[in-house]
Amino acid sequence: MSGDPGDGQGGDRRPVGLLVRLAYATIDDFRLRFAPNLSRGGVFVQTRAPKPVGTAVAFELRLSTGEKVIRGEGLVRWVEAEDPGATPPRLPGMGIQFTKLDAASRLLVEAIATGREAREAGGAATPPARGMTTHPPGQRPPVATPEPSLAPADLAPPTLTRPGATPVPATAGTTPTQAELDRPHRVEQLLAGVAPVPIPLPAVPEPITRPSRAVIGIDLGTTNSCAAVVRDGRPYVIPSREGHRTIPSIVALTSRQTLVVGHLAHAQLLTNPAGTIHGAKRLLGRPFDSAVVEELRGRYAYQVVADAEGMATVKLGPLTLTVEQVAALILREVKEVAQNHLGEEVNRAVITVPAYYNERQRQAVRHAAGLAGLQVERILNEPTAAALAYAYGRHLKQRVLVFDLGGGTFDASVLELQDTIYQVVSTGGDNFLGGVDFDARITDLLLRHYEKQVGTGFTGDRVALSRLADAAERAKCALSERTVFPLQLPFLALHEGKPVSLEVTVTREELERLVGPLVDRSIDVCRDVLLARGLAVADIDEVILVGGQSRMPLVHRKVAAFFGKAPSRAVHPDEAVALGAALLAHSLESAEGVVLIDVLSTSIGIALPGGQVKTILHHNTELPVRKQYGLSTTRDGQTEFELVVLQGESELAAGCEYLGTVALTGLPPGPRGMVKIVVAFEMGAECLLTVSAREMHTQRQVSVRMSTRPGPGGAQRQVARGTRSGAPAIHGGLHATVTPPAPRTPPPARGHRG
Ligand code: ADP
Ligand code: MG
Repeated sequence: MSGDPGDGQGGDRRPVGLLVRLAYATIDDFRLRFAPNLSRGGVFVQTRAPKPVGTAVAFELRLSTGEKVIRGEGLVRWVEAEDPGATPPRLPGMGIQFTKLDAASRLLVEAIATGREAREAGGAATPPARGMTTHPPGQRPPVATPEPSLAPADLAPPTLTRPGATPVPATAGTTPTQAELDRPHRVEQLLAGVAPVPIPLPAVPEPITRPSRAVIGIDLGTTNSCAAVVRDGRPYVIPSREGHRTIPSIVALTSRQTLVVGHLAHAQLLTNPAGTIHGAKRLLGRPFDSAVVEELRGRYAYQVVADAEGMATVKLGPLTLTVEQVAALILREVKEVAQNHLGEEVNRAVITVPAYYNERQRQAVRHAAGLAGLQVERILNEPTAAALAYAYGRHLKQRVLVFDLGGGTFDASVLELQDTIYQVVSTGGDNFLGGVDFDARITDLLLRHYEKQVGTGFTGDRVALSRLADAAERAKCALSERTVFPLQLPFLALHEGKPVSLEVTVTREELERLVGPLVDRSIDVCRDVLLARGLAVADIDEVILVGGQSRMPLVHRKVAAFFGKAPSRAVHPDEAVALGAALLAHSLESAEGVVLIDVLSTSIGIALPGGQVKTILHHNTELPVRKQYGLSTTRDGQTEFELVVLQGESELAAGCEYLGTVALTGLPPGPRGMVKIVVAFEMGAECLLTVSAREMHTQRQVSVRMSTRPGPGGAQRQVARGTRSGAPAIHGGLHATVTPPAPRTPPPARGHRG
């Protein structure tokens, strides 16, 4: 915490850091009970070691839970001695006049002062709580109003009223005991600099020496994660520590400098958006300069930066975490919850990923799992998992469409189910269509209301904005059950020094009008996915809705209207994916095997000179697949080749995502065009890409290296995309294998199924 130099009285030394630990555990208790010690101009802090008058201080008031409530800077204006003989006994302390408050603190101080004024006006007259700093009028030295130059323009007017003038009403369910109230608040000197926060993860995955009996299924979601397991042949969801069915995929750093995950982390999303990592799955395995990351950076309050290799990485206070580490912290939480629940070690899992996840993203999930102490038995596509939850053990013969509308993305996949065979035949989606987009439409509505009410644009800060977004989401979810939702946001922002509260009643009708176009976009994707396989809506036997946002009645209605039938109610939208993963885990361990046949979600190709792309493996190609591509040398005596591998549907390299560079070395020298090489691209059932190469004339193997760093070709791509230069290297890398020497008979075009 750094601050302005002192005011002259305190010299121009740096302010003394004060950490004030309060006895109250909740903000409500704090608002009521601490009110007598607080005014718009300052705060009275009880301590047996007050700082001398004139000392510049940087202070933080924290609840007993460690949560920060007020933070700012000020000047010690008076010091009080202890008086045990007074009634009630008076405690020693110091009055601090605010010179600076952060925006959230300013709002809270304003709310407390306004609340106290309202109680005063209402004539509340309960005696003050003993031990609170309540001082008989006239005993405290008057406080000088500081020179205007000392008060930054955005401060609450620094007129420090005497705290303790107002009685404290008795509250029900009080947290602090009388003894605690009698004790002065604990005031600690804030240490200069912050101690490094330990990240509770190993630097590299540790090998699993004793695989556990249990294999769990994990839906590592963008918004929520969910774990499930099969016991006695029945799959069920493992409840979180707090008893919820899902765990928010959120990691945060608390004011106590500890990393928290899940519900605890979600709890501070409102007050500390910049220190709360959510939606990180969308950044996983993506280069910082990719279009998706660029778009997301504008949406997240936390900082996204590039690591030394150019990958997107997040900042959390003093910490820099790789996105894999964020995912690992979530997976570790899931693992621990599962262990506690099952009462045994769990170090094996089936983890689901979106169907569109590319090679690198899948590798990133594997790596994250390794850091979390989990061995990945199989990476499973989310739609296939949902289909497993729907059809496992039911011996169906159906064609289904899995409609997955989650927090950030939309996916639609058509699967053909035949008994134990689950075959994806077409898949598609929208990376930027999900619940948050629905929330944004309501947030815009609230902002328009604010503007109408106040007469200017929104004057709130980031915290106020996240309160708006949170309220928008609450309204949206509530409107899935009811038709009207009254929304109240007290003390949302300050306008001309006065707090502004917002009260808006949102109706389902209004919501549906706002988000109708978004739902239409999801239907358009369904249309494309059907069209890609020449299917008609009548060819779909069932539509399976998954993802929290699919609970919206409008989604049900539009889906029913498009497909001409109501969607299935057979699976739970939040749990189906995890249950499907658990079922696959179970089937891997038992004789009841299932056969999963997937398609390639996004085309894979190689960069050509001039920024074009040659597609090698096409979108929707059935997996596993093996395709060959012939090359010949273009220079006399050429002994090397380099291929830039890209993934995407664009015909231009600039529109695709870079996967890696394959270097072929050790070619036999010869006249140009005479040395021919066959490069084979092979994608296995789990969408892992393998590249191999063979020199045709001699049938000699050629060494192939799929590098994680782009060579000159990669650099060209950077130029073609017009993005910053540098080292846009890739984590994980692709698997490159070398073909066995001289295979006389060409390998089959397609590997076995399953
Ligand atoms: P993800 O797959 O991204 O982890 P989820 O499937 O958990 O996401 O869906 C989260 C989204 O679902 C959020 O945007 C949330 O607001 C939304 N959601 C949850 N419950 C409801 C509901 N009852 N009505 C509408 N939307 C909901
Ligand atoms: Mg999901």
